[in-house]
Amino acid sequence: MTKEYRTMQKLKKYIVSSKEYTEDLHKYFVGSAIMDKKGQILTMQMNSYSKTHPLMVKYAKGTKRPERSFLHAELTSLIKCRFMEQAYEMVIVRINRHKEFCLAKPCEICSLGIKNSNIKKVYYSNHIGELILYNI
Ligand SMILES: [Zn+2]
Repeated sequence: MTKEYRTMQKLKKYIVSSKEYTEDLHKYFVGSAIMDKKGQILTMQMNSYSKTHPLMVKYAKGTKRPERSFLHAELTSLIKCRFMEQAYEMVIVRINRHKEFCLAKPCEICSLGIKNSNIKKVYYSNHIGELILYNI
């Protein structure tokens, strides 16, 4: 699982160096990367508190939680990935304001989106910096 751990570290760097990253107690930061079979990163995205997307709204309605229509990292990756036909796995990390890994299990909205894609494997971080295989 080394390529997934490499991606995990890249996601952390990406989040911590982004303009959206703050020490705000009420915000959380999730990054998601889609990789091909060889472990090449096809896209890397993070959640947004300012952007939404019709797909997010649609899935949020489907789960009776329409308030959760802000763009999550996982769905952003699915939307922005330009080579979805090569997509194979996804790595999701959550970083707190102390730059530590946290539990990043995808919500039901993102799980739906991933299920409807051709991604075969999903890993998410836990609070001790390990990657957990998610049974999608
Ligand atoms: Zn989500």
